[in-house]
Amino acid sequence: MRMIVAGNWKMNKDRDEATALIAALKELTLPQGVEVIVAPAFPFLAIAVDQLAGSSILVAAQDCHEKSHGAYTGAVSVPMLRSIGVKACIVGHSERRQYFGETDKVVGLKIGALLEHGLIPIYCCGESQEERVSGKHFEVVTNQVKVALGALSSEQLSRVVIAYEPVWAIGTGLTATSAQAQEMHAHIRGLLSAHGADLASRVPILYGGSCKPDNAAELFANRDVNGGLIGGASLDAAQFGELIRLAGRA
Ligand code: PEP
Repeated sequence: MRMIVAGNWKMNKDRDEATALIAALKELTLPQGVEVIVAPAFPFLAIAVDQLAGSSILVAAQDCHEKSHGAYTGAVSVPMLRSIGVKACIVGHSERRQYFGETDKVVGLKIGALLEHGLIPIYCCGESQEERVSGKHFEVVTNQVKVALGALSSEQLSRVVIAYEPVWAIGTGLTATSAQAQEMHAHIRGLLSAHGADLASRVPILYGGSCKPDNAAELFANRDVNGGLIGGASLDAAQFGELIRLAGRA
């Protein structure tokens, strides 16, 4: 199974900063078997694609609209992303759920649109602190995965990347323990096995939530952890480069 290290820049970096970070990432030697993805903000996607020409680093968007065109002021469609060379898109991030009211139903439509146009959906799921404390985390994630991915065919599912991101660990400095991550990743893989064990074993499941160079080796060593979706640490080339190196050793 390939490892994936994806950087979610969120609403950070202006043009000069984005260009400088991409230039630094382009200098990295990528280990064999590690796929690297960066997700800058919308205004810099085309610049990132151009700058990364000739590199194997892929460019992802942080969101998309489920419709292909029309009167949806402020929205960006999947065909638009595709037309500038964007290859993947994060959907269902907990910040989109919390601040923009995104639901798994809508996320499912976005995933359908991405697959239709040949982009890789990076589908984020994960429970809140309250849900974890009250022991509902498996139930919550099961429901998220069923609603967002339940209608996909096996062929479609084989083109999806999942990111398990416990909300209580995002940007907080709290990380799921290696055992908590493995347990939930194995659970998610179990849900996918309705499509057969072979397919389930091939869907990459990334961990996200305060993943940093000092905890990544332990997280990445888990059997069902196939890399990381990285927020804060992706904004620094040295830290992101170290995470890529650690993924190559896992
Ligand atoms: C994220 O937003 O996807 C994320 C994992 O953020 P951080 O690494 O900063 O916790």
